[in-house]
Amino acid sequence: MQLHRMLPADVDIVDAELTVTRSADQYRARLTLSVRVLSRPAPVTDGPTIAVHMGWRHTGLGTQVATWRATEPLEIPRKWSAILHAGPDRTTGIIVLPETTTQRLDDADRMRADRDGDFNRVRERLAAWLTERGPLPNPAVGGQELTADEVGRWRSRAPLADVARAWTEKPPIGEDATDIVTAVTVWWRADRLVWQEQEDLRGRAQRHRDDVWANIAAVLAAQCGLVVLDDASIADIARRASDLPPEVATMVARRRVRASPGRLQAAIAAAFARRGVPTKVVPAAELSRKHEACATVNPPDNRYTKRPVRCDGCKKSYDPDESATVLMLSEARQGAA
Ligand SMILES: [Zn+2]
Repeated sequence: MQLHRMLPADVDIVDAELTVTRSADQYRARLTLSVRVLSRPAPVTDGPTIAVHMGWRHTGLGTQVATWRATEPLEIPRKWSAILHAGPDRTTGIIVLPETTTQRLDDADRMRADRDGDFNRVRERLAAWLTERGPLPNPAVGGQELTADEVGRWRSRAPLADVARAWTEKPPIGEDATDIVTAVTVWWRADRLVWQEQEDLRGRAQRHRDDVWANIAAVLAAQCGLVVLDDASIADIARRASDLPPEVATMVARRRVRASPGRLQAAIAAAFARRGVPTKVVPAAELSRKHEACATVNPPDNRYTKRPVRCDGCKKSYDPDESATVLMLSEARQGAA
């Protein structure tokens, strides 16, 4: 049992939720308590305004998750300077995915690919053996036959794992079966261990990333008097990415899942709310398409997948993320006036 945050003494527990999730073939239980905090912090409104615009892409510094712009220079603790990047004047910068997250997720992906290779080899071996020997009763599904054709069609590990489990208890009779039974059951035992390791690694990577987002959010909330976010739904952006060629769309989707800008945005909103710092949400609709320098709203085509973007109005190139943060700050100012 791991306790993430101590509860203050003066809270009321208003709700408790137990969530059980599966990781490989193990289960993890998480208890979430919702509490009512009795003493609210006094709202903070002094300090610079910061705009944080979510958008993920690969940069020389790593996977960029967000772009930020503040009305005054920010203090960036050295501990977080590799994640919360700032330009020389410390009023603009980007937030990148921690390198350890990328490495751990790459390792988990490699384990998964190795498992795919092992699965395919054992499945093909079983199919070849069945071709030679003829069908057997399926030990895992009563009344069904285990044929080479069927085994050849398996795309998931589950039916092969079911056969392995059944054969561990009751292997088929005959000397010619010894080698294949060994191959299938050894594969199954090894695969379960690597699967667990893979999912543990993935879980650790994601928890570490979310913890980093919470820290970055706290750094920003500690010194800003207002945060401006946009209402872009991460799901909408993901849908739009499906206009791209499939291989590009897959890569973009993978980067988005890894970077989880939605979680960063939620962490920022939560950190500011906890400190009583106001949050302003502006419409995202034209943010990336509108060039702040000339106010041209460019058409919604595929030009935004590359940086910089050429503006139809002034014919100059601009970075749509940087432009978006300028627009967000100016909208926050207009709203306040
Ligand atoms: Zn322009």
